[in-house]
Amino acid sequence: ASKLHVMADPAVYKGRAFSLKERQLLGIHGLLPPSILTQDQQVFIVMQNFYRWDSDLDRYIYLMGLQDRNEKLFYRVIAENVELMMPVIYTPTVGLACQKYGLIFRKPRGLFITIQDKGHIYEILCNWPEQDVKAVVVTDGERILGLGDLGAYGMGIPVGKLALYTACAGVKPHTCLPITLDVGTNRESLIKDPLYIGLRQKRTTGPMYDEFIDEFMAAIVRRYGQNTLIQFEDFGNHNAFRFLEKYRNMYCTFNDDIQGTAAVTVAGMISCMKVTGKKMCENTFLFQGAGEAAIGIANLLVMSMEEDGMATEDAVSRIWMVDSKGLIVKDRPTGGITSQKERFAQDHAPVNSLEEAVASIKPTAIIGVAAVAGAFTERIIRDMARFNEHPIIFALSNPTSKAECTAEQAYTFTEGRCIFASGSPFNPVKYNDKTFYPGQGNNAYIFPGVAMGITLCGVRHIPEGIFLKAAEVLASLVTKADLDEGRVYPSLGKIFQVSVLIAIKVATYVYEQKLASHYPEPVDKELFVRSHLYETEYESFIPDTYDWPESSL
Ligand code: NAP
Ligand code: MN
Repeated sequence: ASKLHVMADPAVYKGRAFSLKERQLLGIHGLLPPSILTQDQQVFIVMQNFYRWDSDLDRYIYLMGLQDRNEKLFYRVIAENVELMMPVIYTPTVGLACQKYGLIFRKPRGLFITIQDKGHIYEILCNWPEQDVKAVVVTDGERILGLGDLGAYGMGIPVGKLALYTACAGVKPHTCLPITLDVGTNRESLIKDPLYIGLRQKRTTGPMYDEFIDEFMAAIVRRYGQNTLIQFEDFGNHNAFRFLEKYRNMYCTFNDDIQGTAAVTVAGMISCMKVTGKKMCENTFLFQGAGEAAIGIANLLVMSMEEDGMATEDAVSRIWMVDSKGLIVKDRPTGGITSQKERFAQDHAPVNSLEEAVASIKPTAIIGVAAVAGAFTERIIRDMARFNEHPIIFALSNPTSKAECTAEQAYTFTEGRCIFASGSPFNPVKYNDKTFYPGQGNNAYIFPGVAMGITLCGVRHIPEGIFLKAAEVLASLVTKADLDEGRVYPSLGKIFQVSVLIAIKVATYVYEQKLASHYPEPVDKELFVRSHLYETEYESFIPDTYDWPESSL
């Protein structure tokens, strides 16, 4: 290890935790203050800094700076304080960070590949210094959270998601590569923004865009191998569905907005069944929104009802959706029914508003995924409470400003009877002397563990069944005590255990299904997963020294 290397590379830099001997041997003595710290002491200092800031955006900037300096310390602090820090490195703060990415940009992280680089993607990938990449998270920035087109500012999302791969599931950071495909932006204000970091042009679409994505997929595989996991994140609706269909049998790929969301939401629903005492197939689900999230969840709900022994068409008939043109019904006069929505077009008279739809369909569960803030009105929530002893209300739109209702509204208007979950975190709510802890349907319960299992086993393709397995593992970890407090998910503090169990389940499943290429098959899947977890303890730089006997010299 060269002097420059240990001081500058965040993967090995330890700050004041370099011991005296290390400092002397590495030739960095004097470059650090003389007080030598343990990692525990460094954690304490980081926490002091974290609390010192008034705003979460400042905390975000501080933590990203720490990640750039001292990776092990960064991951230890995140892993030990997931509940506290998740909202800072992920939704909702990451949304604000993306909107201000030009302002807060310090050191580049991840790879920027633009449409102007078409024909040269492989060469750009070769500029990435790591040889051993196993997982890529990629966005084109068109639909960042519920915030719309943020162009190259979307980089915060793949960076944040991959930080969670490591923090939540122990995937080694050097094997993770965040990528933004900059094909332009249709947000005029960004093109005019002097701080904007991307290409100043309108989005490229059509065949040129498709060829670019094709080239990208092929280049990843050429550089890092066929089993490289490629997670699609925050693509626009139309492209998200198209690429999933196009690539799912050619590459090791999934779309988190469709499939990860589906798994985490179905897990929440399985938990709800323990409260309502119903079977999944005895519900009527009504979605506000019929996009990536809604269609993904709906399809996985169907799979879950089929597991209950229900026929597919009966399961499908339990699912209703309202999109921007009203309730999705057969031969809808307002049109707009895409091929993904068609499956859920029911026989019903046209209905324009969500309020009317709720009143007419009397669902057991409403799921908000349209990024329309406040869509769950008081009347809707009160209606749900009239129809159901325990109405299920999932306000999943992100960030918090887009939520369909607040946790407080949900508990108040249902007199504390609802089962509530949201996409972004809400604080606990006190209602009639009882404190409710709203569940957060955070995709981070699912994708890190799934990714860990998939990358370890060298999976070729990712079947839908993996996401149902992951949902079942997640739901199985919810305790009676959690449910009594209103939680349909385990607390975020347990996310590492959750991810490891999901990874073990995924590993077991992919070998059963003959989808794994890692050979030989590990006999003990748990040991296999656990032996590959990233560790946050510092490595020692003291070489082993020993003598040879005089007589041999
Ligand atoms: P999307 O694919 O763009 O879909 C948005 C959907 O909302 C579309 O079907 C759209 O209708 C519908 N919509 C828009 N305005 C509406 C209105 N006024 N009334 C009814 N429906 C309306 O987006 P997405 O990927 O599904 O994401 C949607 C939201 O879910 C985002 O806020 C995202 O952050 C959130 N989300 C949460 C989680 C989570 O909690 N774990 C995970 C993923 C996504 P048309 O089809 O007619 O255009
Ligand atoms: Mn997303």
